[in-house]
Amino acid sequence: MSTGFVFSERYLWHETGSWSELSAWVQPSSPPESPEPKRRIRNLLEITGLLPRLTTVPPRPASRAELERFHVPRYVEQISAMSAAGGGDAGGFTPFRPGAFEIASLSAGGVIAAADAVLDGIVRNAYALVRPPGHHASPSTGDGFCIFNNIGVAVEHLRHVRGIQRVAVVDWDVHHGNGTEAGFYENPDVLTISLHQDAWYPLASGGRERNGAGRGLGANLNVPLPAGSGSGAYDLAFEHVVEPALQRFQPEFIFVACGLDANYMDPLARMMLDGESYRAMTLRIRAVADAVCAGRLVVVHEGGYAAEIVPFCALAVIEAMSGLSAGIADPWVPRNRGCPGQELLPHQAAAVMAAAALVQRVPAQPQPAGSA
Ligand code: ZN
Repeated sequence: MSTGFVFSERYLWHETGSWSELSAWVQPSSPPESPEPKRRIRNLLEITGLLPRLTTVPPRPASRAELERFHVPRYVEQISAMSAAGGGDAGGFTPFRPGAFEIASLSAGGVIAAADAVLDGIVRNAYALVRPPGHHASPSTGDGFCIFNNIGVAVEHLRHVRGIQRVAVVDWDVHHGNGTEAGFYENPDVLTISLHQDAWYPLASGGRERNGAGRGLGANLNVPLPAGSGSGAYDLAFEHVVEPALQRFQPEFIFVACGLDANYMDPLARMMLDGESYRAMTLRIRAVADAVCAGRLVVVHEGGYAAEIVPFCALAVIEAMSGLSAGIADPWVPRNRGCPGQELLPHQAAAVMAAAALVQRVPAQPQPAGSA
């Protein structure tokens, strides 16, 4: 079976308008979330010949009922009305132009389509190149360029329509997955893990002490990493947090909130990753998915703002998911690997191991027979 690919030209037509609220003293600029990196990902897949070797999974709009499994009806109606009336702001740096409701619904529905295709055995796994992104959107508000929480909507589809009970969301976007955390904070059946730059965006969000509540206590893990972290820190986080937490939780389906903005050139972060870092993380998550949930894995595009390097990071992810090779060299890896920044530093290790201490609180499922 091949890897599925979700995309629509309409995703690139979402307009974010002008970003004038930062200061009255500089020329207004466009928000950094633009179609450009996503268009270049699609183009790179086509130019390298990888695209026809993937299985196209057509997106469809999420219905109101589907959106309202994660979002409160009042918020969905508010976005619909603002979109029809000329645009607005969904909250927290999320300006949009007319028609955004339809495109955001298609973005969430694209992730539903990807999950259905995996569950139905049409594809082995799938990459959803959707826009607008989703992981900052909470049930009642948009945030950080996100209107609807695409993964959250798809998680609820699997749980309420497809008979899946336990789902894990691994968020390696460099910013905290606060919207997904908010949606599932008291839910013991959805394990949310976020690896992000410490104390970055949103401010005062993503601390280790935010560990879930009520019946969901233990089912939300935050791994705030110091600015400047490279592959050494991320590798350690996979070894001591992500992999053991997933093994313990035994999800039936895994989503990755795939922000590619921990790359070393990103204008909205201060981390040191490159395409090979993302390849390594994807191979590890794919191995866990193979071990615990028959390989069921949907990787969903989130942030990533450096239009030159992001396409190569996405290519590495899709190569690792599919086992295919585009047969081209990533021009940005040698530049990064020639600089310091990849080796694990003591303060990074301390941050990871503090988060690792919380893995024992993750709701545990019986391990399958024969597992270690
Ligand atoms: Zn991000």
